[in-house]
This record gives sequence, structure tokens and C-alpha cells, in this order.
Amino acid sequence: MCGIVAYIGHREAYPILIKGLSRLEYRGYDSAGVALINGSLNIYKKKGKVADLENETAGKNVSGKLGMGHTRWATHGEPNDANSHPHLSQSGDVAIIHNGIIENYATLKEELGNRGHEFKSDTDTEVLVHLIEDVQQNTGCELEEAVRLALHEVVGAYAIVIISKNDPAKLIGARKGSPLVVGIGDGEYFMASDASPIIEYTKNVTYLNDGEMAFIKNGELTVKTIDNVVQTPYIQTLEMNLEAIEKGGYEHFMLKEIHEQPKSIYDSLRGRFNPQTGSFAMRSLKEYEGKIKNLNRIIIVGCGTSWHAGLVGEYLFEEISRIPVEVEYASEFRYRNPVVGEDDLVIAISQSGETADTLAAIELAKEKGATIFGLCNVVGSSIPRASHAGAYTHAGPEIGVASTKAFTAQVSILTLLAFGFAELRGKATKQDLRNAFAELESMPAKVEKTLQCEEKVKQLAEWIKDANNVLYLGRGYGFPVALEGALKLKEISYIHAEGYPAAEMKHGPIALIDENMPVIVVATKNSIYEKVISNIQEVKARKGKIIAIVTEGDDKVKKMADHVIEVPETSEFLVPLIATIPLQLLSYYVAVSRGCNVDQPRNLAKSVTVE
Ligand code: GLU
Repeated sequence: MCGIVAYIGHREAYPILIKGLSRLEYRGYDSAGVALINGSLNIYKKKGKVADLENETAGKNVSGKLGMGHTRWATHGEPNDANSHPHLSQSGDVAIIHNGIIENYATLKEELGNRGHEFKSDTDTEVLVHLIEDVQQNTGCELEEAVRLALHEVVGAYAIVIISKNDPAKLIGARKGSPLVVGIGDGEYFMASDASPIIEYTKNVTYLNDGEMAFIKNGELTVKTIDNVVQTPYIQTLEMNLEAIEKGGYEHFMLKEIHEQPKSIYDSLRGRFNPQTGSFAMRSLKEYEGKIKNLNRIIIVGCGTSWHAGLVGEYLFEEISRIPVEVEYASEFRYRNPVVGEDDLVIAISQSGETADTLAAIELAKEKGATIFGLCNVVGSSIPRASHAGAYTHAGPEIGVASTKAFTAQVSILTLLAFGFAELRGKATKQDLRNAFAELESMPAKVEKTLQCEEKVKQLAEWIKDANNVLYLGRGYGFPVALEGALKLKEISYIHAEGYPAAEMKHGPIALIDENMPVIVVATKNSIYEKVISNIQEVKARKGKIIAIVTEGDDKVKKMADHVIEVPETSEFLVPLIATIPLQLLSYYVAVSRGCNVDQPRNLAKSVTVE
């Protein structure tokens, strides 16, 4: 997820772009860059934050009334100066900024390479601007037409803005899958990922729809579909304040990120399997086929929420791929002289890819000959670089300190890997894969539906907010969910909470239960549903108050529990993706009603880069 901003009009563009980029920095801060046209086309780009870009441009020519800027969250190619946007065409005359992923970039790159194109970066984005120029040179058409034709050859998601030295009065944008809004001022126009860079100059905007492009030519705005049908833009007047827009209208980043999960799960899975053929498109599965077929054991290392995702991974890999798994806190693993060998695969999970203990754990495992698979969200971070193989979660930047969308993205990929490993080891048929893929494909919609429990959860939060202790129970796939629910509550509301396997409660925590003790139980329909019901009875017998997460239409638990939250029915192995959502919302609303700083809870940091 990157941030883009562009300007054409009567003012100097640079200050507008820089201010806009700082507001869009929440979308990514791997690098920043600007392109300005004033006779010549000047590009400045730098790894790091917008402030680093400003240092880079100090004393340089940043004049121009046409320009665009980008703040990057890398998906293809590590965060460095060369991979920063804007990118240039072969001649250096046309520049592009992009938010999204060009999925068929490798094929396009090869074709263009065969025709003599040379690339300066590892990005998918640079391929698109080469393609646009190639189309223009081959057809002799106007730039906007070349953009339109080139987009027909592209598979993937994009919001793009294009400018050219040869067309100094033209600004071209297009969107499919990534947002782009056009601001309409008095003799000036803006384009941006959201309205935050625009709002102080004009409140009149039009949001492009998927498959539409917009261009400003001789001071006039035209919107058309990429199939060449001219559209009448719907111009609306914004009434939002800046702060609200930066958080997408949500009060906190955490809430925004909870709501982003249908998309982050979709983005994490996108392009990685084919539900029709039951086949995978994951490079690491192909490259490490021999290793996966013969491996002895999987060791999953992580910290905090990533460790919980690892526990879900244990259930998945053992059940689906039939491979023995151990899940370890990275901080323990690194200091306890573990027995690890060449036949082991170590999966390291970390949102930031910088978690110090996890990094140290994989260095240790590498020394002992294990193969390392990194599962991280931040492209080019240290853990992916130190790993032999891996996959990125594509959840987009996670800013709220309490991890939400990174967890569900990690679990989505682990599910996919479990089936991939199962196939390679002869434990899953093509039909098994097709069934699993169909289920996985339905997850974004099911998560969206689950989010409808928000109002109910808000009311329940009022009930929980004065508790001193909360117990979270679950069994099977519900157990890691219980642990994650308890961690979320502790992190942001400072209420003591414990996650426990429901049956294990009898061996200790049951002593805590009285009429003041809320107990949250993951009681979705599964193979041990009846057992969980017995555990609910045990709590009730001691006057504990129950909130149960149940499968839609469940009447049995409804009769026993004080409150239920219904979630859509799904396969047992996918329960963590669904059942975690109400627990994230619950901790959020409890924290809000206790007046806690949700996005920056006390004593915590987003990525723990110290041991
Ligand atoms: N794929 C582009 C890159 O890696 C854009 C990334 C994004 O929008 O997240 O630079």
C-alpha cells in the first residue's frame, strides 16, 4: 500500500506534494520520491521517510507547476533508492507512480526486455511505464491513449499517475483495485490516494471507480473507462476534517485495520493459488519442493501475536500436512540450545520482519543447518533477507500497535502452506485443494459479514469494562484464538486476561471463577463442540458469566450463555480467521470506554527490535 499525490495548476507543486506525502505516510514509509516538470523532468527519490526526501532535495531545483509524489510500502523489490517511485520509461521522458501490484509484470518485463528495454529497478511498476511508452511509440497515439491501451495488458491492482516531459500540460491517472481521488480546484487539479493531501485546497472531489481513468488536458478534466466510454464524473463536496481522513474516517488506526481485514486477507492470498485447477503459484513451494517432501519437522518461531499465528500453524500443519510441528517463543528458542538439524524447516513469523529475538532465533537455526522460511509483512526487512525462502503477507502497513490484520494475514498464508506441503507429501488430492481453495476464497466475504457484530460487541464492551480479570477459553483451533483474544485485551485495555485451553481450566483457573468473572468462550461448531459445551456448563455451575462466540443459528449455546456473538459457518481449520474478529473488536471497545490510548498503548512499541 503506497501513497500517491499529484498536482497540475497555477501554484508551485513541490510544497503541495511534500505536505501531501507526509499525510499519506501512514500508507508506507519505505521510501519517498517526487517528479516535477518545468521544461525538464526532475526526479528526486530516496529510501526512508518524507523527511529524508526533503533533505535530498535541499538546494535543488524543485520548481514546476506539474508534479507528483509517492511514498512507498514495498511489495516488489527491496526498499532502496532505485526501487523508489517515480519510475521512468526507457527514454526517460515518461514518469509513473503506482500503488498496487502488477501481477503479470514478469511476463511483460521479459517481452519488453526482448525488445531492448533496460530496467533500473526490481519493481513491477517500472515495467508498466516502459510498456506505456512502448505502446505510444508503436501506435503514435496520445499519451492518455497509450496508458489506456497498456492497461488492457495488465493483470493486477493499480492506482497510477503518469506525467511526461513531452506533455507538460497533462496529468493522467487510472485506478483498478487501489484508490484514486481527483480534486477539482479553481484552475487546478489534484490526484491522490485519499483526500488528505487535497482537502485544504478544494473540497470538490471525484473518486474514480475501478476500471476508470482520468486526465487533465488543457485545463479540462475527462473521465473515461479503460474501455473508452466517457463518464460524467460525480463531483462531491467533502465535509471531513483532515485527521479523520488520515484514519480513513475511523477514530483509531486499530479500528481501521480491523475493518481492513477482508481486503488484507484477499491481498495476502491473491494470485497464490488457482481454485479451478487446485494448483499453487508460490515460488517457495516450487523452489523447495525436494526439501518439503523430505523434511522431518517444522519449528515455528515468533513472538506475541505472531506466536499465536504459529500455534494455529501447528494445528494446520499437523492436521493437514501430517508433519510434526513445534512452536517456540523466539526468545526462549535462541537461548536454550535447541536440537535442530538439516531436516528441519524453521518458519519465522514477524509482522515487521525486524523482531530482534526472531531474527536471532533464525540465525541460530541457520548455523545448525536448518532451512528458514520467513513469513513477514514488511518487504525487504531483516528476517526475509536472512531467510532462505519465504512469503510476504501483503496486509499493508499496520500502524496500530496491537496487531490485528497482520495476524489474520499470517494465518491465511499458513493455511495455504499447509495445503501446499500436504500436496507435495501426498497427503492432499487435487480435489482436497480445490475444496480448500474455494473455502479460502470465501473468507474475505465471511470476515466482512463477521464485522457486522460490531454494534453488539460495543454493548458487551460496556459490560466487560469494569472487570478486573477476564478468562478466554477455546479448544482445538479455538485455543490460539482464545490466547490472541486475551492478549489483545491486556495490550490495550490493561485488564488482566488469560487465554486457556477450555478443558485445562479445571487444572487451575477454575478457582478464579465467580459471579464477577467474565468468561469468553470460542464455541463454534466443530468436532469437539460437545466438549466445549461441557466446559461452558462447568463455568455456569460456578456462576461465571459467559460470552460465547458461536456459529450462526446455534441455539444450544444461546440457552446457556449470557451473551452470544454469531459468526458465519466455516471449515474448522478456518475458524481462527473468523472467530478472532469479534475478540479484536471487543478489546478495542473495552479500551475505548476505559479511555485508553488504543493506537499507542503504554509501554509497548510496534516492532520490538531489541531483545
Ligand atoms: N508494487 C509497487 C512497489 O513495490 C507498489 C507497492 C504498493 O502499492 O504497495 O513498488
